Amino acid sequence: MLGKGFKLPHLSPSCSPACTRHSARPLPRVHATSVETTFQTASQEAKLWTHVKIFFETPWKQPVLHGSISGANWDDFPLHRVGSAPNRWSFCTLPVPQAPTTASAPLVEFVIRHGSKDEWNKPAQGGNYVIHAPGSYTIRSNAVQASEGTPVMVVSDLDGTMVGDDAATAAFRDWWEEEAVARGSGSVLVYNTGRSLDSFLGLIQEKGHCLAHPDALISAVGTKVYSFDGKSWREDEAWTAQLDKEWDLVAVRDAAYKALTQAGRDNMHFRPKEELNQHKVTCGVRVEVLDSVLASLASSFADAGVQANVITSGHGDWRFMDVVPIRAGKLEALQYVQGLYGFPTQQVVACGDSGNDILMLQGNNPAVVVGNSQPDLVRWYTDQMKTEANSTSGPGGRARLYLAPRHEAYSILEGVQYWNLK
Ligand SMILES: [Mg+2]
Repeated sequence: MLGKGFKLPHLSPSCSPACTRHSARPLPRVHATSVETTFQTASQEAKLWTHVKIFFETPWKQPVLHGSISGANWDDFPLHRVGSAPNRWSFCTLPVPQAPTTASAPLVEFVIRHGSKDEWNKPAQGGNYVIHAPGSYTIRSNAVQASEGTPVMVVSDLDGTMVGDDAATAAFRDWWEEEAVARGSGSVLVYNTGRSLDSFLGLIQEKGHCLAHPDALISAVGTKVYSFDGKSWREDEAWTAQLDKEWDLVAVRDAAYKALTQAGRDNMHFRPKEELNQHKVTCGVRVEVLDSVLASLASSFADAGVQANVITSGHGDWRFMDVVPIRAGKLEALQYVQGLYGFPTQQVVACGDSGNDILMLQGNNPAVVVGNSQPDLVRWYTDQMKTEANSTSGPGGRARLYLAPRHEAYSILEGVQYWNLK
C-alpha cells in the first residue's frame, strides 16, 4: 500500500490522465526525471510526483499494462500507440511518487496483456517486469531496459525532402522506428509541407510501404497544425485561431487580384481551391513578372494595413507564391509545435529542399539542406554560409546549417549523424 497521507491520482482505465501525450493538443513531453508534478492528496497535502514512461514494442492493437505502482493494488493502465510508429510501438506514462513509499516494493511491477485476451508479455526469465527508478524504459524482446540516447524532433518537408526516393524514405523510416522513437522520453516526427491534410493522406497511402507516419503535421505552409493520436488526426484549433490576428483574407485576395490584373492572366493565376484556405492565398506567377507582383502586393498591403508572409518557391518559368498570415509560415508553426512537445532547440532538426522551406531553415535550430535542393534554396544556403560558415551554434559546437552530400531522406540521416543525434 502507499504511505499514509497521500494516494495516487485516479487513473481511469479508459482515459488515464497520464497517457494523454497524443491528445488533440499534445501535452509537453517530460524530458528529465527531475521534472515534478504536484497532485493534491485526499488530506489536501501536496506531494511531489514524477513519471515512469514505458515504450512497448508490439504489433498488439490494444496492449494493457497490468501492474502495481509502489506496492499499491494491481490495476490496468492502457497503452497508447506512438503516433510516428503506430504499428510498432505503444507507450504509457505512469505517475509515480518521488520517493519510495514502501521500502520492500519496487517502484513499478507489471506485465502486459493483449487487450482482453488471455495473452501476456512477461520477462523472458520469468516473473514480472520490475522498475526501481523514475525515467523512460523500453520493453523489447521480453526484456526491460532504460531508454538511452537523446530524443530528437525531426521536422521535415515532404516532397523532394522526405519523399522522392523510396529507398531513402524507407531507410529513414527504418532508423526512426528502430532507433529514434523510443529514445529517452521519445522522439517526435513532424512533417512540414505545403500540402493540405487530404493531399498528405493521399501521399501516406501511396507511400505507406516506405514512409514513416508522423506524430504531427504542419500543412499548407504553416497555416494548419494537426496531431495524430495513433488512430486519427485532429486540427489544432488554438493555432488556427491565433492566425486571425492582423489577417484580412478579403484584403489579401483583393491585392492578389490587383497584381494579377497588372501582370496579365498569361503571367499569373490563382491555384486550385484545394490549395487555398482561409489563411493561405496561393498563386502561380511567371518568373519575369515576379518582382513587380511582389511590389504590387507590398504596396496594396501597406495601403490596407495588412501584414502577411509572402513566400515564393519553385524553379523553371513559374514560381509558387504563398501569402499567409504574419504569424504563420513554416518556422512559426515549427516553433509552435516544438513548444507543444517541449523540445529544446538544439534537438529540433528541420529539413527542406526548396524556397518555401527557407523560413523553417533560418531559425536557431539545426537545419539540413538536402543534397538535391532546388536552385533557390542552394542560393540561399550559399548566401547564408557567408555569415554562418564558421558557426558553432549547432549541436556539439558544429555548424547549425548542413548541406548534405546525398539526396532526399538520405540527407536527413546524414544530418542527424553530423550532429551526433543519430
Ligand atoms: Mg519540397
